Amino acid sequence: MERKVLLVTGGSRGIGAAICLRAAQQGYDIAINYQSREADALETLRAVQELGARGMVVQGDVSVEADVTRIFETVDSSLGAVTHLVNNAGITGPRTRLDQADTATLRRTLEINVLGAMLCARAAVMRMSTVHGGTGGAIVNISSAAATLGSPGDYVWYAASKAALESFTLGLAREVALEGIRVNAVAPGFIATEMSGPERLAQVVPTVPMRRAGSSDEVAAAVMFLLSEESAYTTGITLRVAGGR
Ligand code: NAP
Repeated sequence: MERKVLLVTGGSRGIGAAICLRAAQQGYDIAINYQSREADALETLRAVQELGARGMVVQGDVSVEADVTRIFETVDSSLGAVTHLVNNAGITGPRTRLDQADTATLRRTLEINVLGAMLCARAAVMRMSTVHGGTGGAIVNISSAAATLGSPGDYVWYAASKAALESFTLGLAREVALEGIRVNAVAPGFIATEMSGPERLAQVVPTVPMRRAGSSDEVAAAVMFLLSEESAYTTGITLRVAGGR
């Protein structure tokens, strides 16, 4: 049987690392991408290998085309062509109103969250699509509940970037539906990671119907469903994992 090769962008920590660990338990070979924190990536690789999976780390900024080319080519030669992709790398920028945000924050957020996901998805389609000689595959984009909440006062640009990611998910899913590729998104709510920050917990939890933060592993479970053949007839959706929020 053909091996399943999963690339997780920003797989070094947080939600991405949880996805790598679940995938390791389910027989995927795993390429862990990171941008700057190599030690975290190597720690996740160690955990993946302890679970008996084949893995590798690959540095690269998903918003830089040359890096994305290098990331995919490195995976090609180490594990084989990517058959599954999770576009997880993302940033919010500092929490402020729009009128206090600088242009660099807006640009960087859109470049990583939107352009980065598109560059990686394009490289993946070139390998997965039956039109390009591939055997199919699955892509999951990590959106956010912010896409439909708007995040006023926090980071409206981030919310907008995730809304863009969701319409990209729908459009690409329909574009490649006959080429063996499914494309879906997962929209987490408030998940306890470095990005969400412990200081916001008390502020956000009262607005969550379940009155608690989610865990990275709860997000990873939804991602694994959408990557797997258990969701064979599901494409173009956004699955919300947000405790009712
Ligand atoms: P996190 O803990 O801040 O981790 C971010 C990951 O992305 C790290 O592995 C980081 O690599 C990587 N990364 C950042 N910029 C990158 C770039 N330009 N190229 C490649 N990798 C890059 O974040 P998280 O909370 O796990 O969030 C993961 C995803 O879930 C994001 O898309 C986020 O928007 C989404 N999300 C999170 C929450 C939440 O509450 N945490 C809620 C909704 C959605 P380094 O370690 O090298 O810096």
